[in-house]
Amino acid sequence: MRCPFCSAADTKVIDSRLVAEGAQVRRRRECLGCSERFTTYETSELLMPKVIKQNGNRQPFDEEKLRSGITRALEKRPVSVEKIEAVVGQIKQALQATGEREIKSLVIGEQVMSHLRQLDHVAFVRFASVYRDFQDLNEFREEIDRLAKEPKPQGDE
Ligand SMILES: [Zn+2]
Repeated sequence: MRCPFCSAADTKVIDSRLVAEGAQVRRRRECLGCSERFTTYETSELLMPKVIKQNGNRQPFDEEKLRSGITRALEKRPVSVEKIEAVVGQIKQALQATGEREIKSLVIGEQVMSHLRQLDHVAFVRFASVYRDFQDLNEFREEIDRLAKEPKPQGDE
């Protein structure tokens, strides 16, 4: 965090607290160069666990990627943007609630699938077929068979 007064790179945190019902962290910082104090608000993205990809690489949680994956699956389906946003919010909360510093991308994918399953079967199948990458085709078929027997979820027409 650079000092906004003198651009020094070294600042220290002198106070840190959660605000906006825990969605933000407010930090008081003091510049080690010029001793000016300033406040930063960091949103919950910074508190999200890092994502461990299947190949073992770590990367920052990418909310936009999550949103676009869900949106793509729901393309031309009768599900509102508000519902998509609600799902994104719920998944983020669930990931934060784990308290883990790192989380497998697999876990996020499973979360998306369980939400889509309740929201829209077509979107669920689209997402699952891409996401599961046909590694467990039998399981996938069984899932589709199960879905066929379930009542259709209520989208917003
Ligand atoms: Zn400074």
